[in-house]
Amino acid sequence: MDLHFSEFPYRRLNQEEIEKLADDSLSALKQTNDASEQINIMKKWDVQLKEWESYASIAHVQFSQNTLDKHFQDERKFYDDIRPFLIGQEQRFIKAVLNSPHREKLEENFGENLFQTWEISLRAFDPKIEEDKKNESSIVTEYSSLKAQSKVHFRGNEYSLSEMAPFYVSPNRETRLEARKAQATALEKNQDQFDDLYDQLVRLRHNMAKKMGYSSYIDLGYAEMKRVDYNDSDVAEFRRQIKEDLVPITQKIISDRAFRINVSDYAFHDESLMDLKGKIAPKGDYDWMMDQAQGMFDSMGKDFGGFFTMLRSRGLMDLKTREGKMGGGYCTLFTDHGAPFIFANFNGTQGDVRVFTHECGHAFQAFQSRNLPLRDMIWPTYEAAEIHSMSLEFLCYPWMKDFFKEDTDRFKQSHLEGSLLFIPYGAAVDEFQHMVYNNPDASARERTEMWKEVERIYLPHRKYVDLPYFSSGRFWQRQGHIYHRPFYYIDYCLAQICALQFWELAENNRSEAMKKYRDLCALGGSLPFTKLLGEVGLKNPFIKGTMNSSISNPLKELGISV
Ligand code: ZN
Repeated sequence: MDLHFSEFPYRRLNQEEIEKLADDSLSALKQTNDASEQINIMKKWDVQLKEWESYASIAHVQFSQNTLDKHFQDERKFYDDIRPFLIGQEQRFIKAVLNSPHREKLEENFGENLFQTWEISLRAFDPKIEEDKKNESSIVTEYSSLKAQSKVHFRGNEYSLSEMAPFYVSPNRETRLEARKAQATALEKNQDQFDDLYDQLVRLRHNMAKKMGYSSYIDLGYAEMKRVDYNDSDVAEFRRQIKEDLVPITQKIISDRAFRINVSDYAFHDESLMDLKGKIAPKGDYDWMMDQAQGMFDSMGKDFGGFFTMLRSRGLMDLKTREGKMGGGYCTLFTDHGAPFIFANFNGTQGDVRVFTHECGHAFQAFQSRNLPLRDMIWPTYEAAEIHSMSLEFLCYPWMKDFFKEDTDRFKQSHLEGSLLFIPYGAAVDEFQHMVYNNPDASARERTEMWKEVERIYLPHRKYVDLPYFSSGRFWQRQGHIYHRPFYYIDYCLAQICALQFWELAENNRSEAMKKYRDLCALGGSLPFTKLLGEVGLKNPFIKGTMNSSISNPLKELGISV
């Protein structure tokens, strides 16, 4: 039955109940000597996991919808706390499956990637770090609440951090600078706490890595990201292409922007503005946008149309910003119900459409993969997952005129420039984290030096004027991923390169591009990143030359010569 989100059953689990069911499943698995019976037991256990995971997702979604609500805070904390225990129980079962005498047949049935993923998950967690993982999530929660509750005082009004975005693109330079100052002041208030929380996380993560037998957190972090088909040298090669092939180009985009907005002393507070032709925003309110979106998805095909109708009718979206809501956007899947959920903070900017199409890409993939045999086969690793979302942003281009009317070309230009400008920033966030975890004893001050160094490499144009908080090397403190999901950020860059390839394909052959997009979504997490790319004919970003060939089309479109 297709329930509305508000009707989804929810309860707290208890450890005895989980342990008993894990014991039962384990002994059933060990008792049988029949591969097909083992397959059935694995599926039955998976149904159980899906139910538990759905409760945890509900707790997380409700907390993010209202971070100030005591009840939701408690429920989220409950599920944060019980998570390591749950993982421990899952791992008992996984270990038994990996050691099954029928492993070969099981692998044949579910595919080898699932087994590789499980093997790496065992290298990422062990009950001996259970307490540390609990600590880690409570520090991360503290960071999120601190940021969600930050108030920006700007021209007599109070704003959340995400509500400030429209002022950063004001054609009035004074307004832009003043808005950035207000943002910096709000963050600066908590700078010592942000430093301290990160310090705790770095030390905690380093110690966990030691306990797990790694020399640094980098290897553990990669294992947590379930990266089975590449390592930190591949990522370093990818960053090298960004440094050498892309940074010179982003500097050209920056100087074009400076020219367009008529500024000779271009600075950070100018960076969000593309031209002086005024704000690019959707030409209607929320309900209007939802109607445009329905029209767009209906014309993309029955599958897209039906999917979006379902999101709307079952209450599976929370998109408008409001006080106390967690910042940012995400998509999750209630595996038990096969229902994705989209979260965003619309603030009346073009970013609303971008975030919306992005999260719809995640949700569409999750929905298309929801019936894959096991839960761990639904989501791919993050860099692959971001291809679904970032590519959909491009594949929706033909309908952007429905949202932006006369500003459509400017929206596309801004999106395209933004897509390229983003990549070096993403690489900076990634290299910074490698530096941090390679030097776990560094002081907060030394970390600010590391940040300044990656800014010099990847964002050589960046100049903070009258923004001492930012120029002190603390820009990274606003980047939540650095706190809650180490090493995730580069995944957006890897995926962006693939999304640009999808866009080029769509320009040349729309139906071929859509077919490949649907194929990729349906594959879900059944293969690792580089194999998924191979499956749909995308070029591998770790291979030298991929950067140059992937950006040639956008450069042509933007009229930039190399
Ligand atoms: Zn995403």
